[in-house]
Amino acid sequence: MALDPTSDRRSVGESPEMATYVTGPHFEPTHERAKVPAVGPGRDVDGFVRQFMRELNYGQGVSLARSTVNDQYLALAHTVRHYLMQGWIQTGKRRRDAGDRVVGYLSAEYLLGRQLDNALLASDLQEIAREAMNACGLDLDILRAQEIEPGLGNGGLGRLAACFVDSLATMDVSCIGYGIRYEYGIFKQTFVDGRQVEEPDSWLALGSPWEFPQPDRATRIDFGGHTETYTGEDGRERVRWVPSWDVQAIPYHLLVPGYRNGVVNTLRLWSARATSAFDLQLFNQGDYAEAVRARTFAENITKVLYPEDSTPQGRELRLQQQYFFVAASLKDFIRHTLPADFDLHQLPERITFQLNDTHPVIAIPELMRLLVDEHDFEWEQAWDVTRRCFDYTCHTLLPEALEVWPVELLGRLLPRHLEIIYRINEDFLAEVREAFPGDELRARRMSMVQEHPVRAVRMAYLATVAASKVNGVAELHSRLLRDKVLPDFSELWPDKFTNVTNGVTPRRFVRMANPGMSELITEAIGEGWVTDLERLRELEPFADDAAFRERFRAVKVANKDRLRQLLHHRDGIELPEGHMLDVMVKRLHEYKRQSLKLLHIVSLYERLISGEVDPATITPRTFVFGAKAAPGYHMAKETIALINAVAKTIGEDPRVEGRLAVAFPANYNVTLAETLIPAADLSEQISLAGKEASGTGNMKFALNGALTIGTDDGANVEIRELVGGDNFFLFGMAEPEVAALQAKGYVPSSFYQQSPQLKRTLDLIASGAFTGGDRSTVGAVLDDWLNTDRFMAMADFDSYLAAQARVDEAYADQDRWSRSAILNVARSGFFSSDRSMRNYLQRIWDLKARS
Ligand SMILES: *Cc1c(COP(=O)(O)O)cnc(C)c1O
Repeated sequence: MALDPTSDRRSVGESPEMATYVTGPHFEPTHERAKVPAVGPGRDVDGFVRQFMRELNYGQGVSLARSTVNDQYLALAHTVRHYLMQGWIQTGKRRRDAGDRVVGYLSAEYLLGRQLDNALLASDLQEIAREAMNACGLDLDILRAQEIEPGLGNGGLGRLAACFVDSLATMDVSCIGYGIRYEYGIFKQTFVDGRQVEEPDSWLALGSPWEFPQPDRATRIDFGGHTETYTGEDGRERVRWVPSWDVQAIPYHLLVPGYRNGVVNTLRLWSARATSAFDLQLFNQGDYAEAVRARTFAENITKVLYPEDSTPQGRELRLQQQYFFVAASLKDFIRHTLPADFDLHQLPERITFQLNDTHPVIAIPELMRLLVDEHDFEWEQAWDVTRRCFDYTCHTLLPEALEVWPVELLGRLLPRHLEIIYRINEDFLAEVREAFPGDELRARRMSMVQEHPVRAVRMAYLATVAASKVNGVAELHSRLLRDKVLPDFSELWPDKFTNVTNGVTPRRFVRMANPGMSELITEAIGEGWVTDLERLRELEPFADDAAFRERFRAVKVANKDRLRQLLHHRDGIELPEGHMLDVMVKRLHEYKRQSLKLLHIVSLYERLISGEVDPATITPRTFVFGAKAAPGYHMAKETIALINAVAKTIGEDPRVEGRLAVAFPANYNVTLAETLIPAADLSEQISLAGKEASGTGNMKFALNGALTIGTDDGANVEIRELVGGDNFFLFGMAEPEVAALQAKGYVPSSFYQQSPQLKRTLDLIASGAFTGGDRSTVGAVLDDWLNTDRFMAMADFDSYLAAQARVDEAYADQDRWSRSAILNVARSGFFSSDRSMRNYLQRIWDLKARS
């Protein structure tokens, strides 16, 4: 491709000096020697050591003898990165040459987890790296532990995005993941007197060896101002956006390596920077704070991840973040990824944007604006192109989690986009009125603009109208989405709705997290399962093989040992040995019902200390919690405090010593999940039916040989169908029963009256037994349980306890338990994110995987 300085597509109103920044066509060498692809370092211990020493000496600028662990980690990361570069460059070139259609995954969150382990696994360098570090007198495990994971997401939604890009690279599908490079990711959780305290997550502080900044590819993003109409040269009426302020978006590339296939895709994360660094005149006058004010203001946009999970915070900065990253991504794709002379009428043939929840939905009016205002499209043409470019994934059923943006805010921040949304809505409502003449109520229900409590845009409706396909994330969720959340829309467009059940990457969550079990599986059925997880079915016969069960159990014991060591060093927690490990890890949310788990623990404890049950006769259990609460979520934080209080009381009570323990390591994240999940015996998935869209934690546990105790909710339904009812502990109301009870009028205190066990449990908490005799601190939680209990923990309590009794009974027969655990692994191959991606390709993107 020739370098043509005039070919840069420049947008209306772009200042000329910006143009020198944004040109950056791919340089293709003409000299023969330069065409020879760069050769990576030798793929042996010697080559690795050489590269490592070069990185340490010339990159970090230290000798081995003088280097810190952080120097060594950075040099190691750079070394591994070297081995990926050739694949990255070649993948990019191959895709450009082929003019592949690209999946543009738009997600405000990517909860990536540590990069080093994954890069070593993908490039098959684990053994070489270990030996090379040994040869240098270093311990790979110590260096691995130095990495701070990029926590650029809150929980399931962000982790899903990370699993999906991993699968697309492994399947060699052309994908660019677009997102935000938060300077501070999800907060670091600590406990002070058992209460959550949030600390900033400065993941970049010690260097970030996995990213490539591209400041020369910066692009300008506008905000504010007003719009003007004018008549174009062709006599047509046009609209021009006259923004009042702008920031620069700087792209950072992260590598997304496929599993041992040489493919390396790209994650393109945007960072905000002020258009002008500071006002030199003010600075010279000594007004330092004012001189850098603009800079601070601009850079706040990507300063920190909102620590909200499933409830939108109506904050202006959040809308700025959303527009910032999608506007940068669209502009970048059109300008840099497409050839310069590309006809945008063909855009749907080159890109398909997947909207990961409503956070990126502002991309829809942005594409309309680009096409109509800047590329002279007729409205209808632009709408046709836009509709074919977007698909939308909904992740929730909670009404409060459906994002709305006040019209006042949108009009102030993005005045042109608000106009465009109004026009889309007008056209849409005309279509509704035509399809349902005289049904004005329906038109009002379906409007993208709600009038109460404030006039606001319903982003999920906008997404549903514009998208070619709308999907839920598990069978049950997709059905409820169609029938309960968006029934008017599914009536109008039944074919628009589909399901893709979520999945998790088997590379990170089985192969990497559980090396012992992976080895056992590979020995039994070969190694193809890592990229073809349905092959785990071949393990089924081994469930009846006593010797295999024995080895499977030994792996679990070893994984528990590994966890015990980690918690000892990480948290100073001493896990007892030989217990059943009962684990509930996920964000703290009322609908997930950590409090129901807590009530089970307290009821067990109560029966032991009251003498009803002899401690010597019970199955010893250790309960492990991991959960962050959104900083402003009061009830969630009270629940954390109560769990910690119960953990402390039980831990100090000699009457239950060795029989019952509760551990709550702080700061649950991907890294902790990777050690915790493979050690678990029992997986707690106990949300109120109809509230958890899918869950992916549930899949990770089943794939690592834990049995699930769970409600008929989200993907639990599919897990149970696949692993079989004998290998899953089901309890609680199903969704229709929940709806019926709600309709009848739910009175939580009636369950307290009827269930003696529940009464004794709540009374013990109310007595102050866990709060040093203080009854006031538990007042709020008890009041909520007895008088509100929005997620009906009281109603499911008895059923939950009965299911826990079945767990004890099953666990007492270790052979039966191991058989069930192996069958859980063998029958959970469906939950690979590779399968999810195949479903997206077939049902939504209409693309084919190359392999
Ligand atoms: C998988 C995962 C989640 C999602 O868990 P759910 O139980 O599905 O809510 C959240 N956080 C982390 C760190 C995870 O790895």
